[in-house]
Amino acid sequence: MLFLVAVVLPAAALFALTFRYLHQDEEMARRLEPGQKFDAVDQAQRELTASLDAIRLQEVNRRAQSRETSTGLPADPAIVFALSLDKGRLTFPGETSQTLSYASARFISFRDDGQLREFQSRDFAAAAAAYQAALTVARQPAEGCESRLALGRVLLKAQRQVEALAVLRDMLRTCGATTDEQGMPYTLYAAERLISMKLDLPLAEEYLVRLVHEGQQREIPIGLPLVDSMIRSLLQSIGTISARQALAEDAQHLANFGQVVALQKELGRVQPLAEKEWVAYGTEPWLLKVTPGSSGPPLMLAVSSTKVAPPGTKLVPARTDRSYAMSGFTGLEIELDPNRSFAGDRAPAAMIAGGIGLILLLTVLSGYLFIHGVNRDLQMAEMRSHFVASVSHELKTPLTAIRMFAETLSLGRMNNEQAKSEYLETIVNESERLARLVDNVLDFSKIEQGKKIYRMRPTELPDVVRSAARAMQYPLSQQGFSLNVSIDESLQSMPADADALEQAILNLLSNAVKYSGEGREIELCCARRNGHAVIAVTDRGIGIAAEDQARVFEKFYRVRSSNTALIAGTGLGLTLVKHIAEAHGGAVDVESSPGKGSTFSLRIPVSEATA
Ligand code: ADP
Repeated sequence: MLFLVAVVLPAAALFALTFRYLHQDEEMARRLEPGQKFDAVDQAQRELTASLDAIRLQEVNRRAQSRETSTGLPADPAIVFALSLDKGRLTFPGETSQTLSYASARFISFRDDGQLREFQSRDFAAAAAAYQAALTVARQPAEGCESRLALGRVLLKAQRQVEALAVLRDMLRTCGATTDEQGMPYTLYAAERLISMKLDLPLAEEYLVRLVHEGQQREIPIGLPLVDSMIRSLLQSIGTISARQALAEDAQHLANFGQVVALQKELGRVQPLAEKEWVAYGTEPWLLKVTPGSSGPPLMLAVSSTKVAPPGTKLVPARTDRSYAMSGFTGLEIELDPNRSFAGDRAPAAMIAGGIGLILLLTVLSGYLFIHGVNRDLQMAEMRSHFVASVSHELKTPLTAIRMFAETLSLGRMNNEQAKSEYLETIVNESERLARLVDNVLDFSKIEQGKKIYRMRPTELPDVVRSAARAMQYPLSQQGFSLNVSIDESLQSMPADADALEQAILNLLSNAVKYSGEGREIELCCARRNGHAVIAVTDRGIGIAAEDQARVFEKFYRVRSSNTALIAGTGLGLTLVKHIAEAHGGAVDVESSPGKGSTFSLRIPVSEATA
């Protein structure tokens, strides 16, 4: 009943409460979630707008400062492209500078002269000289690159490879951002020549691979179909491993390019929207916005949505079952990470499961401890009642004997002097046994109350042992026991309570007598071993089973078996021996095998100091 009330019912109540709480928590979460999700979407939307605006302003400022509309890296890596919108067309970087206005008539006359000599009179040396002259008078980068290209070509025709190579290398270094009328960078012409004439394959390859690796950031930006296909065909014609790798890497660039071409076609639909707000375009999607340029035509920005999506969100171009629309954006939906919790600080399931597990564990553990405790109490109560019965019994036996012998003597009919003295001896002996029993009980009660006092005085152990042996001599001989005593006389005097020690030895000896069964030999030995004085009592009796050996020193504990059933005892003897041994800083232990006998050893440390 107590177990039920103290453990089972509270545990069940805890369970019930936990489950109710869980249920309510879930209910609450279900009600809260939509509201919280909207808050989350709202917040993500504000974050996104802020970062897009920052990117746009940064790019506009960059352009205003550099006044460079055709080339240069975009301000933010999230920008896919930033292109001018000219008369409803996206203008690619190469195209803006394609109208070459040659300021210098001298350049034109030298160049035309060179072409005349190269193609009509086929006088390559003279043509080279004319191009060289054109290069000297060139003012604009395009003039310089064009004359270099022609010079390289004619030098090759004149078989002057080394000079040609120097000119082409020079071009790769300096003409990166300069394009011809078709928007083709002069560097690509130079690379083509280096490859087709096999002048310097590694240099060309290195240049092209670098272009691809730089990706979005290459100095020749995305979206020029000719440039792109030129780079790809050159890489293909090189055909080395790193060239092929670069081609594979270029796939993203190519996909972007395809998307720009598609956008170009749909611009009429997209542009008006993009002038008002950010528009999602393509599968990634890109976020498009038309923004007024600092001077000249407006600018269209494309920003990669994966690079600007706020953490824990995904931007998608079409509605899904988990997506939410956002204001300020056209065609863009946001998905929230499903693993993100929107129900505030709910306790995670693992924690609750852990808690329930803990309750279970505690219930089982307290149940076990409870039952264990109750069992012990029951055992103790039983042992106590046994003890009372045993003490009464033990008191009665010697009393009966004393009374019987005393009565016989008092009648005065005994004439046999030997029998008389034997009776008297028995009376003395039995009263001594009574006194020992009473001493044990009194000592135990003192120990229980913490009032037992040991008086340590310099003691000769051999004397104590001899005294105990003498006290037991008569009862032993009466019952036919032979006591074999061996004493190491060299043991020094040590501080000890002689009375207590003698009591302990007597307890061990009377146990040896009681539990000897058929055996009639007892040994009492006192010697020095490993810094200890050891007093050992050995019998050839019934022995003690292994599982009982540790318990025989517990108070009231008595081994229950058919061998011991008829032997009277209180279960206190060994408890006292242990207490006495420990009071002397020592211990008592038992070696025993059932049917063969036991040895109880009382060990007391003898240090030089105590000596
Ligand atoms: P008791 O009054 O029962 O002898 P003890 O504390 O002296 O109480 O001993 C506890 C139990 O240990 C005994 O009941 C007995 O079963 C066992 N025991 C003690 N000494 C011996 C021994 N020499 N041989 C066998 N069993 C012993």
